[in-house]
Amino acid sequence: MTRQLPNDTTRAWVEIDLGALQHNGAALARLSGVPLLPMIKADAYGLGAVPVARALEQLQPWGYGVATTEEGMELRDAGIERSILVFTPLLVDDFGNAREARLTPVLSSRTAILKWMGQRAVLNTAAGPPLRTPQPPLPQYHLGIDTGMSRAGARCSDLPGLRDVLESFPPEGACTHFHSSERNDGSSEEQERRFEQALEQLPAIPPLLHCENGAAIVRRQRSRWSLVRPGIFLYGVGSGDGASVEPRPVASVHARLVDLRFVEAGETVSYDATYHAVGRRRIATLAIGYADGYRRALSNRGSALLNGKRVPVAGLVTMDMTMLDVTDVPCEIGDIATLIGTGRNARKGATEPESDVLTVEAVAREADMSPYELLTGLRTRLPRVYRGGEA
Ligand SMILES: *Cc1c(COP(=O)(O)O)cnc(C)c1O
Repeated sequence: MTRQLPNDTTRAWVEIDLGALQHNGAALARLSGVPLLPMIKADAYGLGAVPVARALEQLQPWGYGVATTEEGMELRDAGIERSILVFTPLLVDDFGNAREARLTPVLSSRTAILKWMGQRAVLNTAAGPPLRTPQPPLPQYHLGIDTGMSRAGARCSDLPGLRDVLESFPPEGACTHFHSSERNDGSSEEQERRFEQALEQLPAIPPLLHCENGAAIVRRQRSRWSLVRPGIFLYGVGSGDGASVEPRPVASVHARLVDLRFVEAGETVSYDATYHAVGRRRIATLAIGYADGYRRALSNRGSALLNGKRVPVAGLVTMDMTMLDVTDVPCEIGDIATLIGTGRNARKGATEPESDVLTVEAVAREADMSPYELLTGLRTRLPRVYRGGEA
């Protein structure tokens, strides 16, 4: 599991603690009391869907959630056998691939359900004499219900018109999605009431019901439903501000100093000359930039941990390089700066973790973006180094 080629850590990299991921998943399973349906869409929020799924297998989740057919196919190709739910509505053009990869789409329209189930009839006739050919497994789907996101899912008023298809092809599950799960404002509970009203209109209650993302699990704990769908909590980002349970950090981003220079008073750093040296300053260059996912919005705002101190980003973050003002910190070329996560003190001759930490949330706040955007923005140019995690 641990990929640690010598050149993985020569320039810049993201380190993923699979042990912490497993810990966070186990904490949510304990808290909710129901099986997990971990959301590993968008390449597991930028951390690598296949290694993340392999590590989560240890927790025996019910299945995995993705956004696209391609993401589901990637997991199947990697040997993941559990159910894989595809949450973004699929166009009919995608049904063939989804069917072949045994994915479970979340559907909500009459046309989509009929086409999805119809695919089976076509496959059956193409498969030869029915008695001698093993039946392909029944294609499964979950019914998506819109209770307030207005993004996807059947609206309550659509359900009477779906009754006959739901009767002929009962879904394996039904789900909805909260728009403000981290808020204690009653909105999730209102959405649940609508979900229950919708369920009452179905010809039969599907066996698997699920509503809660990570923030909803943490806020409400024991689930009333069959499965829970955590995402970002698994990857080390909690709901903050007095949440009863906090995740362990999972992702950290490090880059090495590749250049060091002194600039004199009045000289500037980087494009557009937005950083002006006040007196003689020492500037370090890191081999990481916005093409790696270190966001340009951190220009002149972000900071890094270097040899036990916090140092500011100097000037605009460029595509491949980012400069730091390291005037106050003894350092040399090759030292490791930490842009997200816990610092390392190379001066102490070791990669010992420091006490100071730049959390994903704090860095995202500096960049005026959500932690989701920051994590999913980490580019694949940044090598991923996986540590820990029991099989
Ligand atoms: C992304 C997603 C989740 C997980 O949300 P987090 O806030 O990351 O816990 C759950 N359900 C659906 C439908 C999602 O798209």
